[in-house]
Amino acid sequence: MDIFEKISSLAKRRGFIYQGSDIYGGLAGTWDYGPLGVELKRNIKNEYWKTMVQMRDDVVGIDAAIIMSPKVWEASGHLESFSDPLVECKKCHHRFRADTIIDEVKLKAKDFSITDYACPDCSGELTEPKTFNLMVETYLGVVEGEKLKTYLRGEITQGVHVNFKNVLSSSRVKLPFGIAQVGKAFRNEITPGGFTFRSREFEQMELQFYVKPNDEESMKWFEYWKEERRKWYLSLGMREENLQFKKHNQLAHYAKAAYDVEYNAGGDWKEMEGIHHRGTWDLSRHEQFSKQDMTYFDEESKERYTPMVIETSGGVDRATLFFLMDAYYEEEIKDGDVRTVLKLHPKLAPYKAAVFPLLANKPELVEKARGIYDKLKCDWMIAWDERGNIGKRYRTQDEIGTPYCFTVDFETLENDTVTVRNRDTMTQERIKISEIYDFIKNKLQ
Ligand code: ATP
Repeated sequence: MDIFEKISSLAKRRGFIYQGSDIYGGLAGTWDYGPLGVELKRNIKNEYWKTMVQMRDDVVGIDAAIIMSPKVWEASGHLESFSDPLVECKKCHHRFRADTIIDEVKLKAKDFSITDYACPDCSGELTEPKTFNLMVETYLGVVEGEKLKTYLRGEITQGVHVNFKNVLSSSRVKLPFGIAQVGKAFRNEITPGGFTFRSREFEQMELQFYVKPNDEESMKWFEYWKEERRKWYLSLGMREENLQFKKHNQLAHYAKAAYDVEYNAGGDWKEMEGIHHRGTWDLSRHEQFSKQDMTYFDEESKERYTPMVIETSGGVDRATLFFLMDAYYEEEIKDGDVRTVLKLHPKLAPYKAAVFPLLANKPELVEKARGIYDKLKCDWMIAWDERGNIGKRYRTQDEIGTPYCFTVDFETLENDTVTVRNRDTMTQERIKISEIYDFIKNKLQ
């Protein structure tokens, strides 16, 4: 089994992620997050928000609508490729205009076999050329014939840029500053796959950071954000050897620099986040299409200009998948006995701790453990388990990434102490019940 299969099987078995519309045979490219998945994903988004918005003086957040005026997508260039037949690489999923690969005459006459061509980037197999657009169409209004055709947003970026002026006039931000957003995006991916890696509905977490249109200064910010984003993944426990930057050699015509943050998914480096220097493209295009002034007036220098944008654009689902992969271990304990353990950072773990009574049939133990559990769950997601033997309960918590298990036993009734068992080291120590709260809090710093 490869790592994708292992993770998808664990995800389904333990309630992290299920196939979307499962009982109807599944809807390709859609995924539903179960009781544990929703916690993990929410923790990732909360950590993102905390680092990128809460802890910073130069970033504010917004939450824009998923459905936007179709004009937005004309301005952003997302509708332009409508009539171009494209081919996609089945391996690296890069897309190319078919006429850059196949001779135009042959292409028009459909006189070619696609198997004679390969992906220019990785030599992978190509899909047949198709005229398509990744934007998911939708219609607003109730009267047939008068409905407005529009799109579910293909990226969350544009919701930020169209609000640039609103944020400027309604808050006290000054350049350089950023606007962050987390939310759903939709793409009609031709080849969804790799579990949640390439979905048709997914979530993004993004920062659009506006800077003076000065090449040197803007590149400093580019380098700064590139490093900040790397540090963020490391701070949540991702292993350094599994992260790398990949430079884009082919840049969009307006872009000044672009890197991907890649994750080593079982030996295959995959894009997890993009760091892009987008020049003044977004704001100037919206100015052109909306006929609204999108410039910034610099009070200090008394200049008016269109800011440049440094974008960090990560996928919440990809981060969730890669945090799961990174935390996944199969460890031989003794004599061929293997435990599966998710060594998730406590900040990301769905449950921060579990509380057990040693025996379910001893009311005094159950009552004492319940008291601890009821108190802790006011502040954190805490698991409760009283079934089966204690070893099995530890294994279950290991597999879902719970970092600590507190067990109430007969000694608890004598001296108000419990055992705390560490997921990663499997060691146990005794602490006072009164120390449990601070114990957990310290692990979440
Ligand atoms: P790819 O080359 O893999 O299609 P992209 O370069 O088109 O990705 P961007 O448009 O830069 O991706 O989007 C930013 C981030 O959004 C990506 O780094 C990824 O984490 C996430 N993302 C993009 N498309 C998908 C998708 N179909 N499913 C899940 N996440 C996605």
